[in-house]
Amino acid sequence: MQLIDCHTHTQYSMDSEADIRAMIEKARSLKLAAYAVTDHCECNCWYPKEHYENTELFDYFNCQDDFEASLSAVTALKEEYNGFNLLCGTELGQPLAALDIAEKCISDPRLDFVIASIHQITDEKDFFYINYFHMTTEEINNLLEKYFTEVYELCKWGKFDVLGHLTYCLRYMKIRNNITPNMKLFDEIIVESLRAVAQNGKGIEINTSGIRQGFGTTFPSLKYIKIFRELGGKIISIGSDAHKVKDLGANIADGAALAKAAGFNEICYFKKRQPVFIRIS
Ligand SMILES: [Zn+2]
Ligand SMILES: [Zn+2]
Repeated sequence: MQLIDCHTHTQYSMDSEADIRAMIEKARSLKLAAYAVTDHCECNCWYPKEHYENTELFDYFNCQDDFEASLSAVTALKEEYNGFNLLCGTELGQPLAALDIAEKCISDPRLDFVIASIHQITDEKDFFYINYFHMTTEEINNLLEKYFTEVYELCKWGKFDVLGHLTYCLRYMKIRNNITPNMKLFDEIIVESLRAVAQNGKGIEINTSGIRQGFGTTFPSLKYIKIFRELGGKIISIGSDAHKVKDLGANIADGAALAKAAGFNEICYFKKRQPVFIRIS
């Protein structure tokens, strides 16, 4: 079966030191049918720190430099590795928090692929930095309610190719504190989000990082991938969310198997912002 990895980070992401050439070499050695570099571009941290008034919720600034560095590096490497299906992507964080930046980024003609993600909700830190240990169930549920509401708004906006790691909000509370919220509370808004993605002709990714990180499932889990299919969704991409060379391609075959189990016969990658479908068997 042909496999793809369409969510990966390199030295041009603030949280990765992975050498971009080593990543490409690994992707080649795995004989991937498509490999996308999707370095972070957090829209709400685009400018240098001086630009912002309230900076305590952020630990990183100047994403515009990373965005330019990643896109120019990948564009040059596509020439060098011609014959290999290297794709130039970005993981756009919090697009609605800085729409002017998001619009500027997505109009860049060098981009093959845009993932839209929410790592941080309004007036909160990135989920990575939140300490869940002393939070009550009500506080956790309020946080999740805000996350899923912002995801819904993002899905209605829809100017991306795939929605990144739906249910990311659950990652750290489960892995670190073994907190597993009652997801029935959020199913209705998740269904509406998936419906908006399907109606906009966009896709979702199956982000396999949860499997290797001990979360136990992909983001999102099979339940929501199935619902997306039932709502008429057609576009599924698969990504490891690797930040290290060793993780590139991790569990992507499991991701494809989940797509199949949800009723999809094809997965897809994007070239010049257009979906290219690959049959899965
Ligand atoms: Zn992400
Ligand atoms: Zn990522």
